[in-house]
Amino acid sequence: MNLKDTLRKHGFACSKRYGQNFLSDPQLLRAIACDGACAQDTVIEVGAGAGTLTRALCDMGANVIAFEIDERLRPVLAETLAGTSARVIYADVMEYELSSLAAGKYRLVANLPYYITTPVIFRFLYDPNLLSMTVMVQKEVAQRICAAAGTAAYGALSAQMQVMGNVKIVREVPRNMFLPAPDVDSAVVRLDIAPLCRSTLLPSYRKAVAAAFAMRRKTLANNLTAAYSLSKAKAEEIVQAVCGNRSARGETFSPEQFIALAELLDGK
Ligand code: SAM
Repeated sequence: MNLKDTLRKHGFACSKRYGQNFLSDPQLLRAIACDGACAQDTVIEVGAGAGTLTRALCDMGANVIAFEIDERLRPVLAETLAGTSARVIYADVMEYELSSLAAGKYRLVANLPYYITTPVIFRFLYDPNLLSMTVMVQKEVAQRICAAAGTAAYGALSAQMQVMGNVKIVREVPRNMFLPAPDVDSAVVRLDIAPLCRSTLLPSYRKAVAAAFAMRRKTLANNLTAAYSLSKAKAEEIVQAVCGNRSARGETFSPEQFIALAELLDGK
C-alpha cells in the first residue's frame, strides 16, 4: 500500500505544527539510509513519521531507535513497521534523557522536522556517543552548515558544526518528493565526528563563536569587548594575535582560528 493510502486508511492528516512532510519514494529512502548508516549500526532517528525512513534503515540491517512526538501515528507505525526490530519512543526528543537509552555508539539519521532543526542538531552534536549525523534539512540551512569561512553563508552554525568534524552535502532533495510538499527544497547533510579540538575547550569555543556572530556588522574585537568585558585594546590585541588583522570580522574566522581564539580568551 502506498503512503497516501496508508495515511488515508488511518484517517491521518499531517500536522504543520510538527513539521510532518513525509518521504515515500523507495529509491530515495534507500539512498538516504545508505547515506547515513551501514548494517549493524545503531541508529537514532528523530521523527519516525509514517515509518518510511525507519523501515528503509531496518531493511539495510541497522538497529533503529526512532523518536516520534505524535501519538496519532501509533496505529500507522504499528502497521508500517510490523516485522521490523525498530523501537519507537513516543516522546519529544528535546525532553527525553538520551543517556537512558544506553544505546552505546550510534549514528543519527533523520528527515528533521524543520521547526526545530537547529535545536535537534545541538541536542546531539556534543554527545560523546555520536559517530555521525545525517540529516535532511532545508537546502539553505545545509548550505550554511557547510559554508567556508569568509563566504556570505558562513555563520555560527557553520563554525559550531565544522569544529566537530567533516561536513558535506550528500544529496539534494526537491520539494516535490515530500507529502505534503513543503515550500522549500531540502538537502541531506552528513557530519562525521572528528573534533578539531579537545572536548574541554568546546564550551569556550562555543562562547567565542556566539560572541563573534552576535552583531555581524561589528568587528570581532568589538563583539569580544561586549561579551568578555575586555578593553577594546586587549580584544584587538587578541584578534591580531590570531589572524594578523585587529579589524577582522567573525565571519572570516575559520574553525581553527576560533580554536586559537578560544584558547587565548581562556587564558586572559
Ligand atoms: N521520518 C519521516 C519521513 O522521512 O517521512 C518523517 C519526517 S517528518 C519531516 C518529521 C517527523 O518528526 C514528524 O513525524 C513529526 O511528528 C516528528 N517530530 C516533530 N517534532 C518532534 C519532536 N520534538 N520529537 C520527536 N519527533 C518529532
